[in-house]
Amino acid sequence: MEKNSIEYDVIILGSGPAGLQAAVHAARAKTRVVVLGRVQRSSLFKAHIENYCCMDDMVSGEDILEQGRRQAEKFGAEFMDVDVVGIDLLDDGTLSARLESGEALHAPAIILAMGVSRNRLNVPGEKELLGKGVSYCVECDGNFFRGEPVAVVGNESAAFSGALQLLLLAGDVHLVYQEARVDEHLKFHVESSAIERHEGTWVKSIAGQNEVERLELQSGEELNVKGVFIELGAKGALDLAANLGVMLDPESMRYISVNKKQETNVPGIYAAGDICGPPWQMAKAVGEGCVAGMEAAVYAKKHRRTA
Ligand SMILES: Cc1cc2nc3c(=O)[nH]c(=O)nc-3n(C[C@H](O)[C@H](O)[C@H](O)COP(=O)(O)OP(=O)(O)OC[C@H]3O[C@@H](n4cnc5c(N)ncnc54)[C@H](O)[C@@H]3O)c2cc1C
Repeated sequence: MEKNSIEYDVIILGSGPAGLQAAVHAARAKTRVVVLGRVQRSSLFKAHIENYCCMDDMVSGEDILEQGRRQAEKFGAEFMDVDVVGIDLLDDGTLSARLESGEALHAPAIILAMGVSRNRLNVPGEKELLGKGVSYCVECDGNFFRGEPVAVVGNESAAFSGALQLLLLAGDVHLVYQEARVDEHLKFHVESSAIERHEGTWVKSIAGQNEVERLELQSGEELNVKGVFIELGAKGALDLAANLGVMLDPESMRYISVNKKQETNVPGIYAAGDICGPPWQMAKAVGEGCVAGMEAAVYAKKHRRTA
């Protein structure tokens, strides 16, 4: 999959307030920084903030994010409006972030600032059958559906790459989407695979007594499936971190565990913002992003590749 690779010092996953603040501090420390992610997916994008320090007028989240990006760019950070589909630990101890295009970016340090977003479909049966066939994470639950018919719902890369992944595990794989919002490379892979595509429709309801039995589509089709993976939005942090052995907070098992330097248990991997747990506040995200950016820059300078 890897087409070519680009070298950085610090790769930041997430362009919300945590990622942006990390970028400002890492770039000011004279490191090569790239920020990945789609600004529209930040929780802040549609919010209006009136409790952030020193801003006494209500400010739109969209404006804050736009200014934050300009500020980070001013200090030299680069931006790519893409999702990361995987992170790999390389033999030399550096890290590689795989993009949906197949490209890979390398760096000694990565900051996970992907927030928390598990968008719901909000259809009948979704809540009732959660954990009984309904899942929000292909990487976490795909294994439970070995040889079984499954459906993935979503318009974006998370759904498309999730469906490809399930093809290796499950039986029939259906992909339900209104319109494909993925790059041509991924689209081509899906279209030339055995995935059964249901384009231009959406889910009406998920049916079943004690477990998922059927997915009912607005087009009138009924899919007999055992599993429904709702993948709306970018891949969640936990999926990406799981492969690397990044530890979760032992109480909730839902957030990434960090120390006061925002270090995870894996050298070179830092985390900041909502991904580290509540409270869901911009002030916390920014504070953690600042620490992560500074610390990652120090680490990266010490562990730069020599080649
Ligand atoms: C409706 C609403 C109102 C709110 N009101 C307030 C308020 O009044 N005051 C306040 O302080 N806070 C408020 N918040 C909370 C605040 O928005 C969040 O705490 C803050 O945005 C968290 O920042 P973050 O950088 O951790 O994550 P986010 O801002 O959510 O950013 C996550 C980033 O990660 C990216 N990403 C995700 N997956 C991937 C991937 N696989 N590859 C690459 N990038 C990825 C996304 O595209 C996004 O850019 C509100 C939130 C909402 C939803």
